[in-house]
Amino acid sequence: MAQDFMSTHVGGAWSLERIARGLTHRAKGIVAKRPGSARLCVVCGESSADFGPYRGGWSFAPALVREVGYVAGDYDDCYCTKCSSTDRERHLQLYISALGILDDLQTTRVVHFAPELHTRSLIKDAKPREYIMCDVAPKSDEIRQMDLLDLDFADGSVGLFIVNHVLEHVPNTAKALSEIHRVLQPQGLAIMQTPFCLGLVSTGIDSEAARYQAFGQEDHVRLFGMDLFDQLVNAGFSYRGGSHADLLPNVDAWRNGVDPREPFFLYAKVD
Ligand SMILES: [Zn+2]
Repeated sequence: MAQDFMSTHVGGAWSLERIARGLTHRAKGIVAKRPGSARLCVVCGESSADFGPYRGGWSFAPALVREVGYVAGDYDDCYCTKCSSTDRERHLQLYISALGILDDLQTTRVVHFAPELHTRSLIKDAKPREYIMCDVAPKSDEIRQMDLLDLDFADGSVGLFIVNHVLEHVPNTAKALSEIHRVLQPQGLAIMQTPFCLGLVSTGIDSEAARYQAFGQEDHVRLFGMDLFDQLVNAGFSYRGGSHADLLPNVDAWRNGVDPREPFFLYAKVD
């Protein structure tokens, strides 16, 4: 299983918080633009002149979001114009490939919550022993209806759990982390990419009226602060990922349309 590779090559002593604190606190103009350079989508392999913006790009994000060092991907360079992949899918694919996580899934039960279209194909191609897709409001018959706060899996029954940009949508982070931890087998892996703010000490805004202005999306229930990392560790997980610079030293973030400040949220169940 992939954790053997990671324990050898990455090490468990890394701290995602240490990585995040070493990042530049910038919400706008994440990567210097270089007009004329071709962009490359790692998902479809196609080149294009540019990536398309998410919700109009950074200039349309609420002021608070732009001021608090929001790390949620690159709003200006989100969509591939050829395959519509998002920056979060491209970055996840790059991270997963760099750590060889899909190399040996034949004996692994994989659960993918709120599964993104292109990431689904990536997982299916790896031929895991079992691949279960879930969503609180599924739009396809192949996706099981399930609440992240009440997972319908036995204790210790999942080898790899993927929640990519989901925790910011659920009302109770602690309960969600507890459920993910419960269903993972010992040393099982969880990929939990989550937007967070370099400039927020703690996670705290919960007023209904302030959500759109504060969070930038009506369906986000919080902006995670730097306390996110303590929450993940306190839930019984050990960090197994790394930063873009450490894991993808030869990947040009601008060319690939990904946010180099977004680290790989890869965790293992340790107790
Ligand atoms: Zn593409």
